[in-house]
Amino acid sequence: MIAGPSFLRGACHAWVQSGGWGVSNTGLIAGDGESLLVDTLFDLAHTRRMLDGLAAHAGHAPIGTVVNTHGNGDHWFGNELVPDVEIVAAAGSIEDMRAVGPRELTALLAAPGRVGEYARDIFGAFRFDDLTPALPTRSFDDRLELTVGGVDVELIDVGPAHTRGDTIVHCPRDGVVYVGDIVFAGGTPIVWAGPVGNWIDACERILGLGADILVPGHGPVSPVEVVRTMVDYLDFVRAEGTSRWSAGMPLADAAADVDLGLFAGLPESERLALNLAAVYRELDPEPGPPPDGPALFGCMADFRAIQRMAGLTCGG
Ligand SMILES: [Zn+2]
Repeated sequence: MIAGPSFLRGACHAWVQSGGWGVSNTGLIAGDGESLLVDTLFDLAHTRRMLDGLAAHAGHAPIGTVVNTHGNGDHWFGNELVPDVEIVAAAGSIEDMRAVGPRELTALLAAPGRVGEYARDIFGAFRFDDLTPALPTRSFDDRLELTVGGVDVELIDVGPAHTRGDTIVHCPRDGVVYVGDIVFAGGTPIVWAGPVGNWIDACERILGLGADILVPGHGPVSPVEVVRTMVDYLDFVRAEGTSRWSAGMPLADAAADVDLGLFAGLPESERLALNLAAVYRELDPEPGPPPDGPALFGCMADFRAIQRMAGLTCGG
């Protein structure tokens, strides 16, 4: 895994990591004598390294605020290492954090059979059993404006999309937007919540901000137009899922029936199985309770096994 700090423009910096599942980015907006951190990382070791690296790179304006873009652990499990600060998140994100914390991830890694095997394969580089959850201290709905050492910052909840609450952090003065997992640059998006249409709308809202530098939750810092690749993938999944649902194809058969085409080369392509499940749930007039985490990881584990047998992936 490669990780390091990056200066973007004006007050805006990022900590960018490259790798697979759970290897996420953070942002730092360093104003006059005060900073705002966008997200922490998946465990203590990665978060400690990120905080030290950003402090050395961006100076020591103390962090007064942490914004968690959403409730997946790779964006908030390290919060305890930034004590005595205001931690802000959208209300939907806090619901997700309460539902799935370090204890649930520890249990997932210890799960028997194919689910545990898959979880240990994708999350084996992280440690969750020594974490103390530090939940946000301030929630917001829709929109929140902050000033960080003289720099205006706007938080916009564009969820539910990737998760139940998805906050983008926009610094209008510097033309920089931190978008969390609304963008997986060079990767396969994963629809935990949906609806897919909301995610596509979120991408349009990002384009409408007028920012030109985009920091994704995963992948390299990119021009803002990278959101169009998310729209292309989400449109594709919605169309492929809708045609199979309309034809009465069981969900269990749907993923293997889809030719990913241009998207086949993206890492973590097995997320297609979960993304189609989200489309099927949206179309079903009586969808029933949503599947739990182990069930969702199980369907991706099964699909990855099918892909490997068919030689559809290179094993990433
Ligand atoms: Zn993430």
